[in-house]
Amino acid sequence: TELSAMILDRIRDVPDYPQPGVMFKDITPLLADPVAMAAVVEELAGLHQVDKIVGIEARGFILAAPVAYRAGAGFVPVRKKGKLPAATLEESYDLEYGSATIEVHRDAFAPGDRVLIVDDVLATGGTAKAAVDLVERAGATVAGLAVLMELAFLKGRDRLTGVDLHSLVIV
Ligand code: IMP
Repeated sequence: TELSAMILDRIRDVPDYPQPGVMFKDITPLLADPVAMAAVVEELAGLHQVDKIVGIEARGFILAAPVAYRAGAGFVPVRKKGKLPAATLEESYDLEYGSATIEVHRDAFAPGDRVLIVDDVLATGGTAKAAVDLVERAGATVAGLAVLMELAFLKGRDRLTGVDLHSLVIV
C-alpha cells in the first residue's frame, strides 16, 4: 500500500548496530517527517476501539502517545524493570544473551479495559509476547498489537498466536 511504501522509505538500515552482524532498523527519519507520522498515527488510531494504548519503552512511547490522543484513549507505559514508581507487575523473557524484564503499574487498567499495544519493530517477538502476557495479567484485554515493521525472518509472529497482529510493513 501507499502507507507501507511511505514507511519503508523512511526506515533506515544501520549495519552492525548495536553489535556486529545486526542490521538495525532506525525509525528516526519517519519520526522527523510530519506527513508520514500523521498517516501512521491515523492508521494506528483506527485499528480498534480501545480504552488504552500501551506503548513499549522506548520507541513504542513515541508512537503510542499520539495514537492515544488521536483515538481518545489513555496512554499506558510498559517499561524496563525499575523505571515505574508505583506498585508493578513484571514479566521476564529470554534474549539471545541473558534475559529482560518489563513492568506495568498494577493499577494501570480498569477491569476489562480493551487495549492496543504499540511498538516500532517486531523482531523475535519476545518483547511483544511478554507485553501481551503482562497486560492480560493486569486485567486488560488485548484487542491488538501494532508495529511499524515486522522482521518476518525472525518469526516473531509465531510466538503471538491468538493476538491480532498489525504490521504496517513486513520485511
Ligand atoms: P524482539 O523482542 O526480539 O521482538 O525485539 C523487539 C524489541 O526490540 C522492540 O521493543 C524493538 O523496539 C527492539 N528492536 C529490535 N530490533 C530492532 C531494530 O532493528 N530497530 C529498532 N528496534 C528494534
